[in-house]
Amino acid sequence: MRMYDVVIVGSGHGGAQAAISLRQFGFEGSILMVSRDTELPYERPPLSKEYLAGEKPFERLLIRPAEFWNSKNIEIELDCDMVSIDAESHVASSADGRQFAYGSLVWAAGGEPRMLSCPGADLQGVHGVRSRADVDHIAASLRSGANRIVVIGGGYIGLEAAAVLRKMRREVVLVEALPRVLSRVAGETISHFVQSMHKGQGVDLRLGVGVKRLVGDGSNVSGVELTDGTHIPADMVIVGIGIIPSVEPVKRAGVSGENGVDVDEQCKTSVADIYAIGDCACHTNAWAGGAHLRVESVQNASDMATTVAKVLCGQDAAYDAIPWFWSNQYDCRMQTAGLSVDYDQTVVRGLVAEAKFSLVYCKDGRISAIDCINNTKDYVQARKLIETRKVVDSVRLADASVPLKALGDL
Ligand code: ADP
Repeated sequence: MRMYDVVIVGSGHGGAQAAISLRQFGFEGSILMVSRDTELPYERPPLSKEYLAGEKPFERLLIRPAEFWNSKNIEIELDCDMVSIDAESHVASSADGRQFAYGSLVWAAGGEPRMLSCPGADLQGVHGVRSRADVDHIAASLRSGANRIVVIGGGYIGLEAAAVLRKMRREVVLVEALPRVLSRVAGETISHFVQSMHKGQGVDLRLGVGVKRLVGDGSNVSGVELTDGTHIPADMVIVGIGIIPSVEPVKRAGVSGENGVDVDEQCKTSVADIYAIGDCACHTNAWAGGAHLRVESVQNASDMATTVAKVLCGQDAAYDAIPWFWSNQYDCRMQTAGLSVDYDQTVVRGLVAEAKFSLVYCKDGRISAIDCINNTKDYVQARKLIETRKVVDSVRLADASVPLKALGDL
């Protein structure tokens, strides 16, 4: 059996960054990164944007060039599905019988796209958007003429896919079960702006309605039946309804957690020498009023990875990075800082009609988060205000002619 000081499970942003940071901080022990993926670590945000649009080749998505990993003495085992962990003997085993002994295990396995559970969900032509393979399937289907596309889910993934498909002049119907898009992550002003932008670009939005079943023509999907009885013809269905954290093996090993796995501020789980980072790690987030939650973002994965690397190098470290996130849809750049889960007031800065504004979320007079639409200046300046937790004047906050940085001087 091969033995490693650190075994990292997962080669997404979290897993890759953990390995990179360990070497950056001078870790000299052996490192193995194992992954279900068949490619070297690559960036995922472009999958639903430039990669789907065919604007960026896969090679430009690689997090590091192929030779980097060798040069840093980071071993990588691909196409390796880790299925069981023996926490007592510190051994991780894969589905095909490969076994690795670990000193420390970093669980960075992320999640699998949640798929529909209705009849017809497993028809051909129904795709998630999480891996290169998913997007390659979508692209192949587009090349062979798929024109009528139904996107299920009005989160960032579904909306970004819809935007790319409209740019490619496909017919797009987007179905969102809740009354507004982005309801999990953004306030109403943002949802309404995004909805009218997509409508203006020709997306047929169906809000507040669920999917009853997918209809097939033989083994291929040919339509979507909604809960209100409507039938939408479809050559392809794209499903963006969130992820299910991939945590079963560590949970069977005794790690606690209801929503993913629980970690403390050092990314330690409840089981000795097992750490968890990224999309699957449920943590107490200081920027969400101390709520216990998972954050699905590159920032969260990368910053947790840096934290765990420091901890494994024996340094003092606690995960407390300010959350940030971005999305591109059509020509619109959306940037978010903070988490809009704990607020008692929202303030709009700028002009929604001109597609250049920010929605600021405040709690007890302090800015807790901001969503910026084509407004990078606000995004940069708000990060400072969120960090310093200063009380701001809400009248001046609403005045877009007052730069946010001036509010910090109060
Ligand atoms: P993602 O990262 O995949 O965009 P989110 O959880 O942010 O995931 O968004 C998923 C969206 O999909 C949410 O707005 C949610 O309300 C919506 N949704 C979930 N299940 C369904 C469903 N069965 N039909 C339509 N919309 C759904």
